[in-house]
Amino acid sequence: MKRQTVRAESPQVDAKGNKAVGRKAPENKVLENKALENKALENKAFKKMPSRKRAVVVGAGPGGLAAAMMLAKDGLDVTLFEKDSRVGGRTKILDDGGFRFDMGPTFFLYPQILESIFVRCGLTMSDYVSLARVDPSYRLAFEDGPDVRIGSDLVQLEREISKIDADDARQIRRFIDLNRRKLADFTPVLQRSFTSLVDYLAPSVLKALRHIVPLSTVDQELGRYFKDPRVRLAFSFQTKYLGMSPFRCPNLFTFLAFLEYEFGVWHPVGGCGAVSDGMARAARDLGVEIRLGEPVEAIEFDGRRATGIRSASSAIAADAVVVNADFAHAVTHLIPSHLRKRWSDQRVADMKYSCSTFMLYLGVDGSYDADHHNIFLSRNYTQNIAEIEAAAVVPAEPSIYVANPGRTDPAFAQNGTSSLYVLVPVGHCGTIDWATQKQPFRDLVLERLERLGFSDLRQRIRYEKMLTPDDWRDQSSIYLGATFNLAHGLDQMLYFRPHNRLQDVEGVYLVGGGTHPGSGLPVIYEGARISADLLLADLGIAPARLPAADPQAAVSSSLVLGP
Ligand SMILES: Cc1cc2nc3c(=O)[nH]c(=O)nc-3n(C[C@H](O)[C@H](O)[C@H](O)COP(=O)(O)OP(=O)(O)OC[C@H]3O[C@@H](n4cnc5c(N)ncnc54)[C@H](O)[C@@H]3O)c2cc1C
Repeated sequence: MKRQTVRAESPQVDAKGNKAVGRKAPENKVLENKALENKALENKAFKKMPSRKRAVVVGAGPGGLAAAMMLAKDGLDVTLFEKDSRVGGRTKILDDGGFRFDMGPTFFLYPQILESIFVRCGLTMSDYVSLARVDPSYRLAFEDGPDVRIGSDLVQLEREISKIDADDARQIRRFIDLNRRKLADFTPVLQRSFTSLVDYLAPSVLKALRHIVPLSTVDQELGRYFKDPRVRLAFSFQTKYLGMSPFRCPNLFTFLAFLEYEFGVWHPVGGCGAVSDGMARAARDLGVEIRLGEPVEAIEFDGRRATGIRSASSAIAADAVVVNADFAHAVTHLIPSHLRKRWSDQRVADMKYSCSTFMLYLGVDGSYDADHHNIFLSRNYTQNIAEIEAAAVVPAEPSIYVANPGRTDPAFAQNGTSSLYVLVPVGHCGTIDWATQKQPFRDLVLERLERLGFSDLRQRIRYEKMLTPDDWRDQSSIYLGATFNLAHGLDQMLYFRPHNRLQDVEGVYLVGGGTHPGSGLPVIYEGARISADLLLADLGIAPARLPAADPQAAVSSSLVLGP
């Protein structure tokens, strides 16, 4: 892939601080003398000025972009390497065949966290990102009925849930009150690092941990409020954001449904990928050099200390390296195995991973009357969830999520056409042979969607792109194609998740879904803040003061979109 360099080149030095190899020698003596003169002046100036510290960021996903912004704001020279030709990672825009799609995230939750990062960087988020609230948030369609619309109006929500079960609908307020407390208690835990088991004894952590009932799952916790399994599903399918089943996900995570209710579901105008584009613009404005199409091939070390990175065309010395590339893929490919005691290849292989997704990005003639977000829940959803977990067979009657963003955002409905995003949760790479299974599975999904209301879908397709778990693994360097990264069981959270300051080595920091606090955009941004603060502290730099994300504060755009 052709490398594009955005922003003027800064001097390249190798891991030992020497000028980069390959720089042309002066062609004659005069130039040589001039160069020596300049060098002497440069050295003199250097002696007077404290040298700026340099950080390299590997990957321009949401975590990498957020970290780059904060580190540049705090005075570091930041170079960000991205292997792809576009920023955003899983949160990027796919522009193809005249159609626009979000590649990954479509639910933008709790924008207050991202806004607080812009504020910390002295920027106004709405100069870079426009947000619109989708209200009602989404349509949940049970295969055998009913159809319910979930939103933030409590009375309306009770009315919708009573279509399933009137008694359960009366429990919603109790559920919301308890989860409001749960999230408030847990927020400090999401905002701090976990570097030692002693961190569990901090008062704020102990307060939060009382909400965790060991071995209790989201579904079991919901059983304390709701007796109809479909109501429990309505408040638990959000565990998909973590790539986990509600029958396994720790009970703590009932607050995901609350988060949607309390703070709304947002649509960034132009798609979630447009947020990544906006963050890249902000990063450049803060002085970050972004190098697209330039994969990092190795992190260089002196003993255990990272000294920089190497790509096919450059070697850059750095005081710190921030890794945003998929955790399991990156550690096993970028860090020599003799330095990895804790994260040996075997240990990484033994970790538990989230599910994956089968994707169809469809450009269709005309538009459908469907809501912006539509979740079709399989009649046999327990079997479906079991199939996803086992990763041994393709689901027979899958649940399907369809985003129809053209309903509210003209960027996704151009010239009499519209973009449909189809996500089917499936197991991560295992024994399924996707090479032979993908075509029949695609046909099954489309046929199912036609029955669910997308009439004549197959005849109306003008553009189509399909992604299987194998494609996520091979095209996006995602370990096992586990799109939501490491699973979020208690055994892989907090201290037990790969640390923000990576264990085993020095000077390497993790950002993204594979480190604490976890996967999902708001927590990834929060994790980038934790890692940036650790890095700055290690370099003896006081970070810019971060105004705490004020849950009650309105975000800087407030446009409301209908379904
Ligand atoms: C289909 C799907 C749907 C999702 N839906 C939602 C949702 O609705 N809401 C939500 O909050 N979250 C959602 N997520 C989860 C999560 O928010 C996103 O996956 C998010 O993009 C993860 O961000 P990250 O910071 O971990 O980095 P990634 O997005 O994984 O980006 C990592 C970057 O590193 C780059 N890279 C890798 N190796 C190298 C290398 N050697 N050198 C240079 N660069 C490298 C990659 O190209 C990539 O750009 C979804 C994810 C997927 C896949």
